[in-house]
Amino acid sequence: MNNKSRLLTACCLLLALLLPAIATTVGWLEFQGHPWLDANLHMIPYVVYGVGLVMCWLFYNSREFNLIIVLVASFGALSQFFWAKGLPGFQKELLFNLLCILIPLNFLIFNFLKERGILNQHGTKRLIFVVAQMIGAFWLIKTNQFGLSTYLSMDIIQHPLAIKTIIKQPGQLIIAISLTVLCAHWLLRPNQLRGAWILSLISVVIALHFVLNTQLATVYFIIAGLILLSAIVINAYHLAYKDELTQLPSRRALKQQLASLGKTYSLAMVDVDHFKKLNDNHGHDIGDEVLKMLAAHLQRVEGGGKAFRYGGEEFTIVFPGKDIDSATLYLEALRNNIASKPFIVRNKQRPKDKPSQNIKSDNTKKLNVTVSIGVAEKQAKHSSTRDIMKSADDALYKAKKKGRNRVEAE
Ligand code: GH3
Ligand code: MG
Ligand code: MG
Repeated sequence: MNNKSRLLTACCLLLALLLPAIATTVGWLEFQGHPWLDANLHMIPYVVYGVGLVMCWLFYNSREFNLIIVLVASFGALSQFFWAKGLPGFQKELLFNLLCILIPLNFLIFNFLKERGILNQHGTKRLIFVVAQMIGAFWLIKTNQFGLSTYLSMDIIQHPLAIKTIIKQPGQLIIAISLTVLCAHWLLRPNQLRGAWILSLISVVIALHFVLNTQLATVYFIIAGLILLSAIVINAYHLAYKDELTQLPSRRALKQQLASLGKTYSLAMVDVDHFKKLNDNHGHDIGDEVLKMLAAHLQRVEGGGKAFRYGGEEFTIVFPGKDIDSATLYLEALRNNIASKPFIVRNKQRPKDKPSQNIKSDNTKKLNVTVSIGVAEKQAKHSSTRDIMKSADDALYKAKKKGRNRVEAE
């Protein structure tokens, strides 16, 4: 997938992530003032976060796990100490100002941490880091830190255009830095989880801005949790249905696609020629790079063909509604395209400094790669999808036997 289509996919995913925000807002506007909602709204964030934590645990999303803990703790602190009566105004202000700093800061920090699992020593360290912040914040509030409070609520710039919000300027600054870094990172490497973090952080910022309106702030805390939750689901779907190396849909996705096809379709099995030799001669990493480049070629196959990674160095292409003759034409063009241009592969272990122009880099390799293809058309004799795959496999075997780098029809 090229950068443009990656960005487009990421934008579509962002839109999908916005849906829970829209649904929650519409729902709240519709049922605002309903006695049940008034009585129970404050419990909904805990339900959403609870579900989120379980899902993070199930799908190994440790960073989202910690962020949800930050959200639970923040919402809990606001409910118990800010919105409830009892705490002196000064301490409420310090709590709020601390939240305006700590929440975006955690989004920023966890953005740079790698996924490392929850129930292990990394997970424990991260959890301790989050809990330590809570204890630290609690201690600061309990011990009435006037000096800190002054710093957290000071005006960094005095300007009529300074944003009018209850969030003080130090908090605004950390929020702005965090959002800028998250957005820049997302633009460089678009992915649905990072996109969700941005939207979730924006929701929390809106919640903080409306902190004096308990219900509205609660709704935005709910939205922040729902966005993370839907990102976890979308991510789990991708993990299950996308091949990590090539980013092609996986064998599981192929199974689903085959089950949904009509009566007429053609199916091709594509196998890289002498791939073992390529691995032996150039290393497994180069082999992986070749598979990625091949996947990009397969994705561009014409005639409405959809490519899947079947496993190893084998791929499947499905042509819905196409007979074997027309599918063969597109496959022949694909084979020719792959065979006619050398693959320029860069060894990942290349030095970081660019070699000077007149020294030819040893780390770039030109490789000639070919594929053999076997294609079959769905017929009455194929009673199951396994049968048609077997026919395509037989045709592939024929192509290999006839010398490789060719397309054979069943
Ligand atoms: P043929 O032309 O008959 O297909 O020969 P071949 O060497 O391609 O066939 P064979 O099935 O013997 O070898 C397939 C090789 O593909 C073996 C395995 O090491 C390699 N392979 C499978 N999956 C991957 C992968 O994900 N990455 C890399 N680098 N190699 C892989
Ligand atoms: Mg093979
Ligand atoms: Mg092979």
